[in-house]
Amino acid sequence: MKDKVIDKLVSIAGEDWVIQDLDKIEGYLYDETPEPASPKAVEEVVVVKPKDSEEISAVMELANEQGVPVIPRGAGTGLCGAAIPTEPAIILSLERLNDIKDLDEDNLMVTCEAGVPLESLFEAVDETDHLFFPPHPGDEGAQVGGLVVENAGGARAVKYGVMRNYVKGMEVVLPTGEEVQLGGKVLKNNTGYDLMHLLMGSEGTLGIITEVTLRLYPEAKETATLLVPFENRHDAMSAVPEVLKEGHVPLALEYVERKLIEESAEHLGKSWPAEEGEAFLILIITGKNEEEIFDKSETIVEVFTENGALEPLFAQRRKEQESILDIRSNIYTALEEETTDILDVTVPPAEVGNLMDEIEDLAEEYNTNIPVYGHAADGNVHPHIMNVNGEAPEYFEDLKDEIYETALDLGGVITGEHGIGETRIKNLPMALSEEERVLMGKIKEVFDPNGVLNPGKAV
Ligand SMILES: Cc1cc2nc3c(=O)[nH]c(=O)nc-3n(C[C@H](O)[C@H](O)[C@H](O)COP(=O)(O)OP(=O)(O)OC[C@H]3O[C@@H](n4cnc5c(N)ncnc54)[C@H](O)[C@@H]3O)c2cc1C
Repeated sequence: MKDKVIDKLVSIAGEDWVIQDLDKIEGYLYDETPEPASPKAVEEVVVVKPKDSEEISAVMELANEQGVPVIPRGAGTGLCGAAIPTEPAIILSLERLNDIKDLDEDNLMVTCEAGVPLESLFEAVDETDHLFFPPHPGDEGAQVGGLVVENAGGARAVKYGVMRNYVKGMEVVLPTGEEVQLGGKVLKNNTGYDLMHLLMGSEGTLGIITEVTLRLYPEAKETATLLVPFENRHDAMSAVPEVLKEGHVPLALEYVERKLIEESAEHLGKSWPAEEGEAFLILIITGKNEEEIFDKSETIVEVFTENGALEPLFAQRRKEQESILDIRSNIYTALEEETTDILDVTVPPAEVGNLMDEIEDLAEEYNTNIPVYGHAADGNVHPHIMNVNGEAPEYFEDLKDEIYETALDLGGVITGEHGIGETRIKNLPMALSEEERVLMGKIKEVFDPNGVLNPGKAV
């Protein structure tokens, strides 16, 4: 990195917040993409940790002047290499923007800086004792800004939707350094094109989010977790649309398999409570009192039983529920070392059974095991392509393409929540028409005429 750039960064953020030592920048070079699928990071980077929008603006002005790429960095929990520097760059970490500025109970909104971790946001909202922030992507270390630009989903999207549904306002530093305020604490806004929604899912390529206003909801008084075993994948997945069709929308409806969930439980030193069944649905049921929860659970169990379910387990004590969900949340961590890539294909909810059958056929064709789990009611599942002898198998790209083609043929998409980043860029032509890709390229040019903000990612 040119001395001139370093000197200017020091004058903007101060010496303590500009980092060049390799041992200190290593943690900023990678995200959580499994290593075999991950783009290789370059080490010619400098990490800057600005304290506010003003300093971020100055960094962007410098980047444009000197033609140096800038990569915004949240918590690095992304799963598509979107935050990985693949050419010499300034890594702009949002970690110092970690203030929860305003918890507005009258409007049911919270305004926080972009570097606030999801876990801290949950804690702050919990303190109100009656409000609740619904989205719950699996890694609570992820930052609010990262969650917004990845339009993250997670287990509770089935009832409440993805991040996009919660963002009402944001402050952004544009790639050319100007600061803009988009939206606000309003629930309806039809003033011109919705630039704010363009920023959501933009994977750090259209602007740096510095502050976000998010909508909150009243918290349900009671919850229970229902664990429903099935003999196999097909039965479990085919039962999901039957429950939804009956009008039951649980807070979460997750799919897991015995081998995976036991591996995850073992990883945590816990045990999986269900003794029978090979495939499981985990449902979180909410209600205003115990009676409502029991009624809802009873009717849901009836539908499942008619559709091949074995004896369900009902967990009501907080500890029991947390344990089941904790084991579910740690599947990725337990499998990560043996994984070549984790996919997040999404199909229309009623097609999820067909998707699972086709994945099973592909596993047979490639003579491999494809573990699958995920957000069943959203039609969003995570097939893992596994290492062979500790490395990516030589069929990795072919199998990945076939899984993508299968999802597309069923009317789905290649990524429902993790994004394109760098690892899926080469698959964009199969997923988007040329017209769509040209439009996206033009939008990028309008926001970022010099192509300095996270180049080579997402579009
Ligand atoms: C165990 C595990 C479970 C997960 N579960 C889910 C899940 O259920 N659902 C789901 O959707 N995802 C899930 N993820 C993926 C990940 O947590 C999300 O993609 C998350 O949104 C990334 O946030 P981050 O702060 O870590 O961003 P990073 O990984 O640091 O960055 C991701 C992208 O956002 C950009 N960026 C970050 N902050 C900003 C900002 N303030 N302004 C502009 N650009 C920015 C970066 O440049 C990069 O392009 C999971 C990941 C793990 C490891």
